[in-house]
Amino acid sequence: MSTQTEQRPNSDESSALDLLRSGSRFVLSGHVRPDGDCIGAQAALAGLLRALGKEVWIINPDPIGPEFDYLAKENQYRSWGGGDLPVHDVSVLLDCSELSRVGELGLALEAHDSQKLVIDHHIHTEGEWWDEAFVDVSASATGLLVYRIAQHLGIELDPCAAAGVFTSIVTDTGWFKYSNTDAETLRVAGDLLARGVDSSKLFGEIYQRRSSLHPLETAEVLASTEYHFDKRLGVICARRKEGAAPGALDADDALDILRSVGSIEVVLFLRELAGGVVKLSARSKNDFDVNALARQFGGGGHRKASGATIDGEIDDVQRRLVEAARVGFGLTDGGLS
Ligand code: 5GP
Ligand code: MN
Repeated sequence: MSTQTEQRPNSDESSALDLLRSGSRFVLSGHVRPDGDCIGAQAALAGLLRALGKEVWIINPDPIGPEFDYLAKENQYRSWGGGDLPVHDVSVLLDCSELSRVGELGLALEAHDSQKLVIDHHIHTEGEWWDEAFVDVSASATGLLVYRIAQHLGIELDPCAAAGVFTSIVTDTGWFKYSNTDAETLRVAGDLLARGVDSSKLFGEIYQRRSSLHPLETAEVLASTEYHFDKRLGVICARRKEGAAPGALDADDALDILRSVGSIEVVLFLRELAGGVVKLSARSKNDFDVNALARQFGGGGHRKASGATIDGEIDDVQRRLVEAARVGFGLTDGGLS
């Protein structure tokens, strides 16, 4: 292989690799509203496990978005609606280590007598419920960890698995824009292109097949922008429309535009979901720790990109978040402290 894995596996990683070698029937799952990293890492791991002669099911709490159809040609992505899980001896949770982010499916997986493996790059705060873990919080994407696993196991990624790793990397790095884009990320991306991944074709698949309403919805949501604290904080609210399908608008599309404002340091995207629940996506351009902010609201993630699912009415949630951000900036009510 042209790109060598930088390190030998540590002892935790070696045990995780042993479990992947020894298991025979695998259930792969991920977090609610699975994103490109989650879905891409699952495609990559499924391909890798099939190459090892294993049986694999991918079962998520929610369906995948149509922008990732190209990964579903080789993989069946099921969404769990209750009932029995397939007979399996190992379950693998990807792009998430907290069962609270897996919904009802998390409880079913926990109750099953399978061995549990976590493959993830998030800061973990809840108890350790798994048997084995392959975790590196410095990795730009979970798919990158699956790439490392393939290298450790000496497995060549098939085209769909390679597209899966690439999908993970580009969706979690904002197509190489964010600060998690490191040398390994670019080396692996280069290796994937050398193996035939078509970067511009995948960009077209993910970002250029949207409905004609998309620009209008984006404009409408952006029109809700509120600035605070000398325009260091920007907040966008995507309100739920009665009778309309929940907004498919990608939070990062709107957040990218708000982040382009020079004075902005932190951006918050609030999406009103059914049942008095608000989904927060928070992004930081510099030292402001949005993981700490999201954790105050029961969420988490990374220092520069985090999220939370918050009970409450959207205007009230917005007020509470702005107040928490004020404290995060070290400001008092009167302005600079
Ligand atoms: P996004 O805003 O794109 O949904 O998520 C950004 C980051 O925050 C991701 O790393 C994601 O895993 C994490 N995140 C998003 N929503 C939640 C949540 O409700 N709880 C926790 N713990 N993390 C979240
Ligand atoms: Mn991720």
